[in-house]
Amino acid sequence: MKIEDFKSLLREQMEELEIERLVAALDQGAQPTSIRVNPHKPYPAPEGREVEWCGWGRHLDERPSFTRDGLFQAGAYYVQEAASMFVGHILRSALGEEIPAGLRVLDMCAAPGGKSTLYSSIVGDRGLVVANEVIRNRALTLADNALRWGVGNMVVTSNDPSHFASSLVEWFDVVAVDAPCSGEGMFRKSEESRENWSLDNVRLCAARQRRIMADAWESLRPGGLFIYSTCTFNRDENESNMEWLCQEFECERVSVECPEEWGIVRTEAAEAECFHFYPHRTEGEGLFAAVVRKGGEGGRRRNPKARRNPFGEVEPKQRKVLAAMLEGSAEDWHFATIGESLYGYRRELWEDVRCVSEQMSVLFSGVKMGEIFGKKFKPDHSLALSKWLRRESFPCYELSEEELQRYLHREELGCVSELTEGVNLLLWRGCPVGFIKRIGGRTNTMLPKEFRIFI
Ligand code: SAM
Repeated sequence: MKIEDFKSLLREQMEELEIERLVAALDQGAQPTSIRVNPHKPYPAPEGREVEWCGWGRHLDERPSFTRDGLFQAGAYYVQEAASMFVGHILRSALGEEIPAGLRVLDMCAAPGGKSTLYSSIVGDRGLVVANEVIRNRALTLADNALRWGVGNMVVTSNDPSHFASSLVEWFDVVAVDAPCSGEGMFRKSEESRENWSLDNVRLCAARQRRIMADAWESLRPGGLFIYSTCTFNRDENESNMEWLCQEFECERVSVECPEEWGIVRTEAAEAECFHFYPHRTEGEGLFAAVVRKGGEGGRRRNPKARRNPFGEVEPKQRKVLAAMLEGSAEDWHFATIGESLYGYRRELWEDVRCVSEQMSVLFSGVKMGEIFGKKFKPDHSLALSKWLRRESFPCYELSEEELQRYLHREELGCVSELTEGVNLLLWRGCPVGFIKRIGGRTNTMLPKEFRIFI
């Protein structure tokens, strides 16, 4: 990376002294650590100082081993950059006190899921988050994180943005584009982002971002909110893109509360309100975020015609058994099969989930209840980690620290005699972390291979 090229772009937006302070923070600054707790899983996550713009966010003074923490593995909190949590503040600020029921959010560039899980917490049980990631292996990680979060209001898809533009036209109330970028805000965290940076790459990123923005815009209903973010500083990928968007499409201003003491630098780009997080001013890495409202009339379009139906029916007898494993009454739930697997959906979300599943390539949705083998039902890890699980459905066993580590490593626990014959729900500090099956004198772990840890 040529530092002079980097500074030349910064000169378009800040004074020389400020540039020196920013570069020094990127070179020497300590890497901050922050987490965001899951409001649906109130277990004892690491304590810290509250992030100013996110009530669920905590700045930590040291970095514990998250991988070995059962509460992290069970989705009781997410490790997220403090600045990134600001997109949630934008959404809340724009929506006002009451979050409307039935909100549909599309997070177009979602892996690994930091912002999607935040949107999931904000829209709550009665809203839906479609978290999309075009790169397949990144989408699988996103699906694992949605499963861990366990709210049941997420659909993870893996499609190109153009697919949304043609298939779910004006269907979403909120569309977020957290675009792939030149990553200047990550210079402190990753040597790779420094090595890959060049003026040419900035130009390439800006052009790609516009393509993604244009496609994402098509999926947003008139009157809906468009939230754009990058983790880079330069104007080309940020304000210039927002100016371009406002030139191409009808955009309206959105007011966002942002007290000066937060240290965030506000700018404007046509109708867009813009926010810069610089590591020498705020505790966190770099971030740019902007918001506009889509102009025009008409509201949401009706659901498009189905391309395919991936779902099968579940028999009434089976529905009763499944409903008994979940909180709420049987009427609150819709059950469906996808292949051999059984899924549960909150009744009020079902039509929306179905519509997305008929159009898109879905990797995960709702609560995966389990699979049927002959007459036997094998509960899924998603059910153990779901906030909707009715605990009394399974005998519970509270793990010791040593047993937890064995479980996370997919090793024998060594406590067979204390488990009940059949499937047991394992808890760590009261929080469900997964299932295990006792068969006589031995156990079968039910922790999926992809959740196994190696440290
Ligand atoms: N929103 C995520 C979070 O908060 O955890 C981070 C998203 S990251 C900044 C940008 C994502 O865009 C990456 O996961 C990347 O794979 C994806 N991406 C790359 N090229 C893309 C493209 N052409 N269209 C859409 N997404 C793309």
